[in-house]
This record gives sequence, structure tokens and C-alpha cells, in this order.
Amino acid sequence: MRTGVYGGTFNPIHLGHTHILGEFMRRLSLDRALLIPTGVPPHKRAPDLASGEDRAAMCALAAETFGGRVRVSSIELERPGKSYTALTLGALTDQYPEDELFLLMGEDMFLTVDRWFHAAEIFRRAALCASPRSPEGMVPLQKKKQSLEALGARCFVEDIPFWDVSSTRVRELAARGESLEGLVPPKVADYIREHQLYP
Ligand code: ATP
Repeated sequence: MRTGVYGGTFNPIHLGHTHILGEFMRRLSLDRALLIPTGVPPHKRAPDLASGEDRAAMCALAAETFGGRVRVSSIELERPGKSYTALTLGALTDQYPEDELFLLMGEDMFLTVDRWFHAAEIFRRAALCASPRSPEGMVPLQKKKQSLEALGARCFVEDIPFWDVSSTRVRELAARGESLEGLVPPKVADYIREHQLYP
């Protein structure tokens, strides 16, 4: 099986995430994908970080729109300590030895992936798949692809029209009591409101 692996803080998951997930699944003919909310994010610690339970619940609501082909993995929430992608991919390889793994990420992540913990192991275990998050993003992405391939990584850079949404913006609007329509799936908006996640 061709399996997408999409990790993120998902604080909360938004339509920018589901849009690129759907596009990668279609363009790379992925059979399924795992949404993996991070445990303790090594790169960013936010005071307004919702609990792992709430972030996973919102991912599950967003996954419903993919008709069973996307599910949530709590692998990083259950593992004590920091969330390292190399460790996650190792565990997924043990769990799904027959699968070909495709690690999905946005521009910001792709440009730094060679500096992540045990990057060579990441490159060995999964193909890297990236799309832009800025209007001129394809230029640095293509350049980075070349340097990552020289390091042995397999890369797919896709020019997926980016949606200018971020979790930061969603949290700001939620805190001001403004509508989240068009930014997160409707059920995620309801969940945020009902649980008063970002006061
Ligand atoms: P925050 O605003 O809290 O920093 P975020 O919106 O960047 O959050 P993350 O959960 O950190 O969301 O993102 C997970 C992954 O999704 C990262 O690889 C990121 O680059 C990518 N991503 C996030 N938003 C978009 C978007 N609008 N378009 C394309 N990729 C995105």
C-alpha cells in the first residue's frame, strides 16, 4: 500500500491541511493516509496548545470527510518525550512492513528537513512530499529538492495551489469569538466552540 504520513501540531487541523492531504492522495495515488498529531513539539511550544486528546479528536472529525481512507494515529501522543519523525517512521515501518511511506509536509518543513533528528533515517524510510505555502514557494522548493536528492532523499514537490490558512490565524479568530467558516471543517469549528479550546 502507498501510505501518506502527515504529521503536525494540528492545533487545530484546518482546511489548508485537508486540502493538501487530498491533493497529495490524488496526485501520488496514495491508498490511505495517517494523520499524526505531535506529542511535545520539538520546534514549537505554544501556551495555547490544546491537549493531545482534543487535537486528535479534531483530526478524526476532519478525517471523516475522506470516507475511511484517512485515519488518525496517536503514535506520537502515546510516546513519552519529544516527537521525532525518524522514530515515528521507524515504528510505522515495523507496523506496516509492506507499505511504501510518503511523508507529507509544507514548504516551511521541507526547507529544514535535512536538519531534523536522524535525517538520513527519514530519507531512507519515506519519500518526502512538499507543496508551497507562499506565492513564490515553488522556487525554493525545487532548489531544496535538488540538494535533498543529492543527500539520497526521494522527493516529490507538487505545485498545489496553497490556501492561506494557518492554525495561528484560526486560534486568533476563535479567541475573538469570530466565525471559523471556510478555515476549518464545520465539525471542527463546532468542537472548538463547544470545548472552548482557544479562549
Ligand atoms: P501554526 O500556525 O500553529 O504554526 P500550521 O498552520 O503551520 O500551525 P502545523 O500543524 O504546524 O500547522 O502544520 C503541519 C504541516 O502542514 C506542516 O508540514 C505545514 O508546513 C503544513 N501546512 C500547514 N498549513 C498549510 C497550508 N495552508 N498549506 C500547505 N501546507 C500547510
